[in-house]
Amino acid sequence: MDPKITISLDNKKKKINGNKNMKSENRNRTKRCCLVSFEELPEYMKDNEFILNYYRANWPLKDAFFSLFRWHNETLNVWTHLIGFALFVGLMVGNLMDVPQVADIFGIFTSPFPSSAVGNISHNSKDFFSGATNFNLKQSASPGMAVASPEPSATRWPFFVFLCGSMFCLLSSSTCHLFACHSHNLNILLLRMDYVGIAVMIITSFFPPIFYIFQCTPVWQLVYLTGISVMGVFTIVTLLTPAFSTGKFRAFRAMLFVAMGLFGLVPAVHAVVVNWNEAKRNVTLAYESVMALSYLTGTAFYVTRIPERWKPGFFDLAGHSHQIFHVFVILGALAHYGAALVFLEFRGEVGCDRNK
Ligand SMILES: [Zn+2]
Repeated sequence: MDPKITISLDNKKKKINGNKNMKSENRNRTKRCCLVSFEELPEYMKDNEFILNYYRANWPLKDAFFSLFRWHNETLNVWTHLIGFALFVGLMVGNLMDVPQVADIFGIFTSPFPSSAVGNISHNSKDFFSGATNFNLKQSASPGMAVASPEPSATRWPFFVFLCGSMFCLLSSSTCHLFACHSHNLNILLLRMDYVGIAVMIITSFFPPIFYIFQCTPVWQLVYLTGISVMGVFTIVTLLTPAFSTGKFRAFRAMLFVAMGLFGLVPAVHAVVVNWNEAKRNVTLAYESVMALSYLTGTAFYVTRIPERWKPGFFDLAGHSHQIFHVFVILGALAHYGAALVFLEFRGEVGCDRNK
């Protein structure tokens, strides 16, 4: 073919394509603030075929931000974790400022359990964690309230590491759900940040129990904390690989998180064996069981996409699996917070004298 004809044909094609792009751009612009159906979504946003309507697609950042106050199928996903974030900010402030009424949100529930600093020190505890208390608890008149007021000398950083990890996870999740509708590139970036947030929350959750339980055996403290950190870094690197962000790998991602959680069984069994006669064994086990159950139930909803698969379109705005998953994540984190308080209190009563 004559090269001139080829060039003019190419130009014509480009013109036609250009017109097509302009038309679709105009169409997008008119639909900017309208909610669209699953079929109308760009390919990168097609994740859950059981949610049929109320999608935002290719929205400008400003509109996406203000959609915080509009009904669409992500509204409750954003708000559940935003409220969770606010709750953890409150707990953080309550702990930093030593406001026991705020910090010990489980005071009402824990009072029937042996969690009072005054009357429930285990008779056997000093055999297991020999030595004097290395930081003292202010004795509080009401049961359960002594938990949040150890002397400033108490080692509280592992507790705050967990609080910060949870806050990071909940905030990155909310941000992801709010802005992922903006563009393909931002969608990929935010989804990865969301997964990293979950991994960070799991890793940091290990810090209070491992630090306080194995405080008198630093070798195990180091082994377990290094183990979970290495596993966490591996998970984060894997999750940052673009291919794993797609819907196809939903179960694989869930499996990675569950594997990280299951790693916790090793130090947990170790801790239970070592502290079998501890008075606080039951209360911490109860909290951690609630946590494990919450996370597992939440993950089951996340993977199976129940209930929307039973009635596609019915749960678009409220009640779909991801919202249920979010609620269980917060419940799990709160249960773990309760356990972390007991561990902190435990170390307040039963220290270990490293000089002995
Ligand atoms: Zn989410």
